[in-house]
Amino acid sequence: MKNLIVSLCLVMGLGSFAQTDSRIYDIINAVSADRIEKDITTLANFGTRHTLSDTVSQTRGIGAARRWIKSEFDKIDSNCNDCLEVFYQKDLVKKGDGRRIIKDVWVVNVVAIQRGTKYPNRYIIMSGDIDSRVSDPVDFTSDSPGANDNASGMAGTIEAARVLSKYNFENSIIYVGLSGEEQGLYGGRGLAAYAKENGWEIIGILNNDMIGNITGVDGVVSNRDFRIFSEPVPPTETEDQRRARRFYGGEVDGISRQLARYVHKTTKIYMPEMNPMLIYRLDRFGRGGHHRPFNDAGFAGIRIMESHENYTQQHQDIRVEDGIAYGDVLEHVNFNYAKKLTAVNAINLASIAWAPPSPQKVEIGGIVEPSAKLKWSKVDGAAGYKIYWRDTTSPIWDNSKYVRDVTEHTLEGIVIDNFFFGVAAVGKDGHESPVVFPNAVFR
Ligand SMILES: [Zn+2]
Repeated sequence: MKNLIVSLCLVMGLGSFAQTDSRIYDIINAVSADRIEKDITTLANFGTRHTLSDTVSQTRGIGAARRWIKSEFDKIDSNCNDCLEVFYQKDLVKKGDGRRIIKDVWVVNVVAIQRGTKYPNRYIIMSGDIDSRVSDPVDFTSDSPGANDNASGMAGTIEAARVLSKYNFENSIIYVGLSGEEQGLYGGRGLAAYAKENGWEIIGILNNDMIGNITGVDGVVSNRDFRIFSEPVPPTETEDQRRARRFYGGEVDGISRQLARYVHKTTKIYMPEMNPMLIYRLDRFGRGGHHRPFNDAGFAGIRIMESHENYTQQHQDIRVEDGIAYGDVLEHVNFNYAKKLTAVNAINLASIAWAPPSPQKVEIGGIVEPSAKLKWSKVDGAAGYKIYWRDTTSPIWDNSKYVRDVTEHTLEGIVIDNFFFGVAAVGKDGHESPVVFPNAVFR
């Protein structure tokens, strides 16, 4: 029935239609808080997962933790007819490379690729972190459960793989546990370099770092709010692109920002009980996360996390001081909230992996004319395109118009000066590519 309605909409060429895919609701419902709780508990029970910790023990240290993560991906793989390619990606980091590398260490990531049927070399990535730390960043022996930071993101990533492995996608999805985060974002840098070497086309990375705490140090308790951090424009942009921005706009419309808006939009449509907050910055003030090395390499990447952090429960020796229980322990994690944020990731991975690629070239015209005009390069497999526009001060794409299989359109009576514009490709099931801000101008 759903498909019939969709087809009717397409046949009738309705200017704009709100379409949902019932499989997305199935994915939300399939994410399990119990399994996430079990996995966070297992990860916390490795004692410490510090990047420099023991790699030989079967029960303690980062070696045991990564072998367990790999075994979970392998288990998922054997339950889905070998749908995952699971491997370690690693780099040797030498003592003294950074202040927090006090001995030579292999930074080892655990990667699982669910290969896309149509675009095997295009990847949307979900990441969590394997490693943990206490107060002293080079203390690699003390108990460091890292239950929220970042067993929550790691467990969510494994759970998303379980749920999405039941489906086939046109684009590839990568589920990855990254290491070396607390020592200086080493794992992300290693995987981003590996991606470049291997010519991966990365659509974007959804980096999950702390998705389990609902009780903020600010006194706010909320299991609905979460944050999506994105930088405004890529650090790799050219001088020409920077100059063009002064005349044509785009200061807040880089590829990471479009990915952030995509996650915001999908959440609003399918999980209206949640309150996603778009944060217009790379990361928290002066702090870092594993999406950044991907941004540094020119890829789109965002950070998804809780809105209300609790600093007494991050990077702390476990202790009680002045009546405050310090430490990143299991008791502080809300598994149902971690489940919600895992679902946010899963539906966005699915939606992007089912969608056609974004149009490569989007041109805009309409200078000193009554109507804005857009042209774009045809996308193979697109059923149509969605033209988006918004007030220049609006954070999200407030307006849209669906057009069928054409490669240009005039927005009658919409003056180019007063809005920002973008174009997304739409697949036959209604899934959309991230929006492309115009990257060329015509007269
Ligand atoms: Zn941390």
